Amino acid sequence: MPIRKLGILTSGGDSPGMNSAVRAAALTAQNQGIIPIGIRRGYQGILDRDLIPLDDTQLSPVLAHGGTLLQSSRCKAFYTEEGRQTGAQLLRDQEIDALIVVGGDGSLTGARELHRLKIPVIGLPGTIDNDIYGTDIAIGVDTALNTIMQMADRITDTARSHQRCFLIEVMGRRSGYLALSAALSCGATAAIIPEFRVNLKRLKDRLSHGFKARPSDSILFLAEGVASADEFERRFQELDDSPSSEQEFRKSVLGHVQRGGSPSHFDRLLASRMGELAVNALVQGESGVMTALKRGRLTVVDFDEVLSRKKLLPNDLIRLARHLGLEFGDVVEV
Ligand code: ADP
Repeated sequence: MPIRKLGILTSGGDSPGMNSAVRAAALTAQNQGIIPIGIRRGYQGILDRDLIPLDDTQLSPVLAHGGTLLQSSRCKAFYTEEGRQTGAQLLRDQEIDALIVVGGDGSLTGARELHRLKIPVIGLPGTIDNDIYGTDIAIGVDTALNTIMQMADRITDTARSHQRCFLIEVMGRRSGYLALSAALSCGATAAIIPEFRVNLKRLKDRLSHGFKARPSDSILFLAEGVASADEFERRFQELDDSPSSEQEFRKSVLGHVQRGGSPSHFDRLLASRMGELAVNALVQGESGVMTALKRGRLTVVDFDEVLSRKKLLPNDLIRLARHLGLEFGDVVEV
């Protein structure tokens, strides 16, 4: 069945580049005679019939903006079969023939349910955590890493000047991707991440040695999924009875600055390519898949595959961390 109207929504945690995805999908649709409809506030907007027209005048200025012009929300009703069925019916009532969903794991799970209810839908991976299986990288990760790197570089300046040890807490509940990548690009001493159990004793020894020998070796990245910065510091100080004052941490929790900001060139282009691909795939009758970047090539992956598997840290990043002497643990957490 030809698509006349295409609904586009962004859902869950926002990530920089979502606007490029919305714009590319809307323009690609228009160029094929399809009417793009923006659905505001994620799945909640379907239930509230919160729809807006999308045209280039409105879309172009937002390319440089982080966040999402369509806004996002958590929609409780979509966790229930009844809520999703109402949503699917409302889409049909509005004559929206197909849907594009940009979001994280939760949003893609909602999209898979709509696909099961016979709504043609394609998902785009949008999250800064890079924890979505099936794609090498998601929309927003590159921008977030650039932000983290810039913040950490500033912290490193003061850490060096005062020979202090800084613990920087970054996002990543299930994935240490941000902490590990940032640690590599900033020359940190350690990345404490959910995938590996760091040897605290060895780290402590290394820090006390580092303090005397190499004052600059004093940045530790901590993924929020392991512990909060306060909690980690407490565990660390409890390791022996006489914690040396040399090993006191200054803590920095980067928080939501990691999500915001103007998207990088990489994220704008990735999101645009994925938005275009999603429309073309829908037109060709695809549904129930997520757009993905694999070894530099764009492709699509089944929702079932994406949602049933856990994304692991890339082996080459782990090898690099070992070769560069980054402390991140020997024991793999399962
Ligand atoms: P993210 O997409 O960033 O992972 P959430 O997990 O909060 O963010 O999910 C965003 C929205 O997706 C939820 O508010 C809900 O409407 C929908 N959603 C999440 N999980 C499911 C699920 N298991 N079934 C159906 N819808 C879901």
